[in-house]
Amino acid sequence: MRKKNVVLENVPVTGYAAEGKALARVDGKVIFIEGGVVPGDVVDVRLGKNKKDWAEGKAIRTHTLSPDRVEPFCEHFGLCGGCKWQMLPYSMQLQYKQQQVEDHLRRIGHLELPPLPPILGADKTQRYRNKLEFTFSNKAYLTDEEIRAAGEEWPRRNALGFHIPRLFDKVLDIRTCHLQEEPANLIKNTIREWAEANDASFYDIRRQEGWLRNLVLRICTTGEVMVNLVIHHEDETARTALLDHLLATVPGITTLLYTINPKKNDSIFDLEPQVYFGKGFVEERLEDFMFKIGPKSFFQTNTYQGEALYRVARDFAGLTGSETVYDLYCGTGSIGIFVSRQAGKVVGIELIPEAIADAKENAAANGVTNASFFAGDVIDICDDAFFAAHGAPDVIITDPPRAGMHEKLTAKLLEVAAPRIVYVSCNPATQARDLALLSEKYTVEKVQAVDMFPHTHHIENVVLLQRKHR
Ligand code: SAH
Repeated sequence: MRKKNVVLENVPVTGYAAEGKALARVDGKVIFIEGGVVPGDVVDVRLGKNKKDWAEGKAIRTHTLSPDRVEPFCEHFGLCGGCKWQMLPYSMQLQYKQQQVEDHLRRIGHLELPPLPPILGADKTQRYRNKLEFTFSNKAYLTDEEIRAAGEEWPRRNALGFHIPRLFDKVLDIRTCHLQEEPANLIKNTIREWAEANDASFYDIRRQEGWLRNLVLRICTTGEVMVNLVIHHEDETARTALLDHLLATVPGITTLLYTINPKKNDSIFDLEPQVYFGKGFVEERLEDFMFKIGPKSFFQTNTYQGEALYRVARDFAGLTGSETVYDLYCGTGSIGIFVSRQAGKVVGIELIPEAIADAKENAAANGVTNASFFAGDVIDICDDAFFAAHGAPDVIITDPPRAGMHEKLTAKLLEVAAPRIVYVSCNPATQARDLALLSEKYTVEKVQAVDMFPHTHHIENVVLLQRKHR
């Protein structure tokens, strides 16, 4: 029976489930709890969805705070959708991520597993992102307290920061973000101050008007800094004044672009960024491979842990110099290029043609001559003729998006039956589902989770599959 408005009192929170939701058990029923609670807290929960074996709810009152909690380091914690796990010590974040990988592989995948080594934690747990995108808005999110404090006067409403989760038109004004190295905050705050001083308008997403729209920053481990300012329409005088002021105020910007976006959506993929200063791209390094990153290129957002992840993938591939390696969902070819010296040849496949163009350029720039790249849907490209033309794979590396692999692809991989598959995943739940399908012909040899995103619940996991002996 499903009752409405059920409140469970004094619920002890015991663990984490997928997607950062906390978990409790009440009378044998599993309760998924939202609202920033952590294991060890004791809370009252108002239930939403309420089924026979499980329910979802929100914490509405806290009786006891977990002794494990630590003080969050960011002033925006609690409102910002960014680093939501700051109240947990990093060692516990790692423990919960590790646990989740294991739970998914066992419960969804029903897989026999080797002993799992601990997740590879990050040395750098703050300022680890090379890319951030901020949004300008004339609808700053205000707390009740801020609205009260403003009294009669309508408070200042401009914001430059991040969208509030689930409120599409509200943006949280961010003063200091801990996700990216300086000069990220200096750039952001310099632009905001100039805009306020010069009455430049912040975008109004409902009315589709206003000048300043988005700010995309790339700060690389090589020291290169790219700024792409997205504006709604051209205003040459204001644009030149702002961009010159930015270059004069912030040392270290190596390339500065602007993009005019008159469209309804924020995507810049169908637009032409204009170079105002510098070469128009930045370069990032993984080991001694260099990757050119333009304003529209995809690249792993955590360079440090990206390198660690690729090392795991290369190690799992067990290459000796002669193998034919397929790199499925290859993006800009970075995994394939990273393993190319140990491989006989590399064949990369990716949906987005621009990414494939980048992959070819990256391979050439790094002197990689044994890799070829193909644009198209993996399920269309990976047919018998393609494998016949490019050679039977010794190792298949696959790195699909969150939804995992299409069933047609897993079916094809079973048919092709390469000796080894290295499955890199940013979603252990869909990975476990796909591994269950592949277990018809493969055993799980190795598992290694890597923490790419400290202080968030996101998990990256690498699995080595070995073809079963006949
Ligand atoms: N391996 C790359 C990128 C992984 S992200 C890296 O490490 O940088 C997943 C990639 O899969 C994206 O680039 C996305 O464009 C691509 N993709 C998504 N669906 C696809 C499909 N059906 N066929 C081929 N590529 C696809």
